[in-house]
Amino acid sequence: MPRPRVYRTEAVVLRQQDYGEADRILTLLTPGGKRTVLARGIRRPTSRRAGHLGLFHRAEVMLAQGRQLDIVTQAESLDAHEGLWHDLLRFTYASYAAELVDLFLPEEEENPAVYDLLTLALEAFASEDDLRLWARYFELSLLQLAGFHPEFFQCVNCGATIEPGPNRFDVTQGGLLCPRCGPEVAGARTVSLGTQKVLRYLASHDREAIAQLGIRDATHREMEELLHAFLQYTLERELKSTAFLRRLRSELSMYEKGRGA
Ligand SMILES: [Zn+2]
Repeated sequence: MPRPRVYRTEAVVLRQQDYGEADRILTLLTPGGKRTVLARGIRRPTSRRAGHLGLFHRAEVMLAQGRQLDIVTQAESLDAHEGLWHDLLRFTYASYAAELVDLFLPEEEENPAVYDLLTLALEAFASEDDLRLWARYFELSLLQLAGFHPEFFQCVNCGATIEPGPNRFDVTQGGLLCPRCGPEVAGARTVSLGTQKVLRYLASHDREAIAQLGIRDATHREMEELLHAFLQYTLERELKSTAFLRRLRSELSMYEKGRGA
C-alpha cells in the first residue's frame, strides 16, 4: 500500500549521518519498517527538532514524502534513553542492538515486533544492571523474529526431546544435539548444564521473569561465545557484514575494559 503524502509514526533513530550544511540523514526504525529520511536544518543551534531526534531517541515524527527521501516535518521525543549517554558501555550495547536490527531487517519491511524488541532493549541497556543478560535476550529474540532461532528443546539431528545432560551445540544446524548425536557431528561444541538451562529460560520467558535472573560470569562467557558463533555463522551466510562481525568478536574484551576488570 502506498504511504500517504504526510504521515505520523513513532520511530527510533537507528543511525545518523551529517548531510550538507546543516541537515542530517537519519535511518529510522518504525513499526512499519526501516525508513531513511532527511531532517533539514537539524544541526542548526536554533533547530526545534534537534533535541528530539538524537541517536537512539524514541520519538513521534511527522514525515512528508519527498522526491528521494521522506522529510521530517515535526518531531517530539518520547524517550531519550538518558542512561545510554553517561556510560560508554551502555552506549556501546545500544549501538550493537541498533546495528544488528539494521542488518537483519530489510528496508521498509513491516515488523512491529522488531520495533517493540528494540525499544525494550534500549530501555534495558539504559537502566538495567546486567547488560550481558539483555544482550543475549535481545539476540535470541531478534533471531527468532528474523526466522533463525536456535533450537534448544529438540535434537536438531534426530528430533529427540532434549533432556538436561551432555548435549552439544551445532552452529551449522542451529541448535542442540542429544548425547547420542552430538559426538557424531564434527565441530559440535559441548555446553555446560548451566548455560543450557539459561538459554532455554531466555527462549521461553518474558522480560519480568528474565529480569530476576542472576547469572554467573562463567555462564555469561559461555553463552556469549555460543550465541556469537551462531550469529556469526548466520550473518556470514545471510548478510556477509564483516565490519559487524569484527565488532561482535570484540564484545568480550570491550565488556572487560568497560567494567575496569
Ligand atoms: Zn539426536
